[in-house]
Amino acid sequence: KSTRSDPKENDSKNLPIYQHKAKLIQAVKDSTFLVITGETGSGKTTQLPKYLHQAGFCKDGKIGITQPRRVAAITVAQRVAHEMQCTLGREVGYQVRFDDCTSESTEVKYMTDGCLLREILADPVLPQYSVVILDEVHERSLNTDILLGLLKKRLSNPAKATKGRESPLKVVVMSATLETDKLSAFLGDCPVFAIPGRMFPVTSTFGFAVGPKDLESTGYVKEVVKVALDLHTSEMAGDILVFLTGQSEIERACDMLYEKAESIDYRYDVQDQTVEGLLILPLYGSMPTDQQRQIFQPPPPGIRKCVVATNIAATSLTINGIKYIVDSGFVKQLNHNSRVGMDILEVVPISKSEAQQRAGRAGRTSAGKCFRIYNKEFWEKCMPEYTVPEIQRTSLTAVILTLKCLGVHDVIRFPYPDCPEERFILEALKQLYQFDAIDRRGRVTRLGELMVEFPLHPGLTRALLKAASLGCQDLLLPVAAMLSVENIFIRPGHPEKQKEADTIHRALAAKTGSMNDFATLLSVFQSCKSSDRPSAWCKDHWVHWRALKSAFSVETQLRDILLRLQQKRDFPVETFEGNKSELFRRCLCTGYFTNVARRSVGKVFCTMDGHGSMVHIHPASSLFDQEGELHWIIFHDVLVTSRVYVRTACPIRYEWVKDLLPKLHEVDVYELSSVARE
Ligand code: ADP
Ligand code: MG
Repeated sequence: KSTRSDPKENDSKNLPIYQHKAKLIQAVKDSTFLVITGETGSGKTTQLPKYLHQAGFCKDGKIGITQPRRVAAITVAQRVAHEMQCTLGREVGYQVRFDDCTSESTEVKYMTDGCLLREILADPVLPQYSVVILDEVHERSLNTDILLGLLKKRLSNPAKATKGRESPLKVVVMSATLETDKLSAFLGDCPVFAIPGRMFPVTSTFGFAVGPKDLESTGYVKEVVKVALDLHTSEMAGDILVFLTGQSEIERACDMLYEKAESIDYRYDVQDQTVEGLLILPLYGSMPTDQQRQIFQPPPPGIRKCVVATNIAATSLTINGIKYIVDSGFVKQLNHNSRVGMDILEVVPISKSEAQQRAGRAGRTSAGKCFRIYNKEFWEKCMPEYTVPEIQRTSLTAVILTLKCLGVHDVIRFPYPDCPEERFILEALKQLYQFDAIDRRGRVTRLGELMVEFPLHPGLTRALLKAASLGCQDLLLPVAAMLSVENIFIRPGHPEKQKEADTIHRALAAKTGSMNDFATLLSVFQSCKSSDRPSAWCKDHWVHWRALKSAFSVETQLRDILLRLQQKRDFPVETFEGNKSELFRRCLCTGYFTNVARRSVGKVFCTMDGHGSMVHIHPASSLFDQEGELHWIIFHDVLVTSRVYVRTACPIRYEWVKDLLPKLHEVDVYELSSVARE
């Protein structure tokens, strides 16, 4: 057995970035903007902040590193804290939405791009930082793109760049792929530092199973499992990385893999006799962090590791030792759906450049192989060349409000790295107007200034503020918190068990005196919170305890924000006569009148926002099978399959939205747009 001296230190000295340490530090010192590129895994994310820390950059401020993904911010911070031998949250910390693990002594701070945007809102000069590193810029996340535009706007003006600061802020932009010329041009032709990578060749093969006809099918999960097992039995030792789209799919694939791997007879079935077992590990964003750590550990001798991951493993997290890739060809993406006028998480084909990025994960330590389960025709007909930046495919309502609050009045001519379509900007302005966040001239209202403080969807914030002005925030805060965490309800899968779970959830809603899905959320929150044994309570009621614990923490944080705002003098105050259930639902209406639907025939509802989409009640909703008694509903989100389903829904009376509905049509977007152009 080999002896291990100090694995961390040796590892990090072997990374490609290590040889460039001195030059990198110098390059950061020499310029305001610097673009750094390098193959995934070369050490950019974990090492550069460490180098800058060692070089004394923390003397006049922190080093902040943004990540588009929450799980990446947390995982990388853990790793770097470990490498620097400090406790997470002390010198090295992280901050993601609703989870702040930093302290007074934090000098290296990993965070989501959304968090940095909030800090800019609090103080555009960012006096607490000496260096800001925007990481994973090639991902083109909405918030990172906005940050790029804001920092460019600010720092390309020398007078502004130093105003309110001892020394000018340094901005480093890191990206895995080759859009660097464009990036550098965008940032005033700033220098580019390319870390030469070591990459071994990867051979990619196309499959037969998935073609253009299978776009809507989820049969790829089964196919991916089959290919991974074939590979396990027929290929030489080396770890496998499987790309799928989301948690439930990944768990299903892992279950199938476990089951099938049981029946392998290692004496006869496997080609490489040194392979004696398979270790199956899921990897997705909302996974418990202790489970995540295993992903990076080398497997025991003779055991092949098989990581089944979302796109997070494409560039955000590098797993060493991967020799084989199984690519499903799909990814889960947030897209603006013009059929329903909302953003929807959809499973869509990846782009060709994304497929190449995935394949590249196999060639880090030696030559690798990538098995694509789709055929050449799918590649040619269904997969776009490049991934469309998020800013060009999702709702801009929240960021436009942020920009306006930062004093960017002309949101059409803002320096976006890639311009969104004008109609997306107009739609955002229109929505902000409908929520009373901006006035007819496109100026932020008092309410808009309050709304921007909440890291929530503007509609939800609107409802919450309405409740607060009526003094009934205790009804809405839990709902807002519950809608901000993932997977509250356990879905047992088994039909009988599902029925049992549904009955329990409906009984909880009934306890609040009104039967709707928002009331269910409120009731789950309150009942669990007042229970003596909350984790047992969750088990009995088919609720995820981990999700509920986060909801408790989110609620406290939202309450703190609200309290802070309420202490200011001009917080709006209103009164209301009526019962609690009506009050609750009327508050919801203020935020969700853009999502109103009216029953037309049978079980079909028609939305009133001008799209006139046909929607159905989802079987998981407490309103399912009650459609006959309903006339008007509001809803939080939709699920699009062959039909459009509303999930979190609530019956309302027409009178409650009567005065609000005209707002959906009254505003002339051209008026808002001409203001935006002024
Ligand atoms: P880049 O940002 O250039 O893609 P990283 O800094 O993320 O590279 O990764 C550098 C190396 O550190 C990789 O080999 C990766 O496997 C390793 N690494 C990163 N995070 C961890 C972790 N949590 N545990 C073990 N190794 C890690
Ligand atoms: Mg990285």
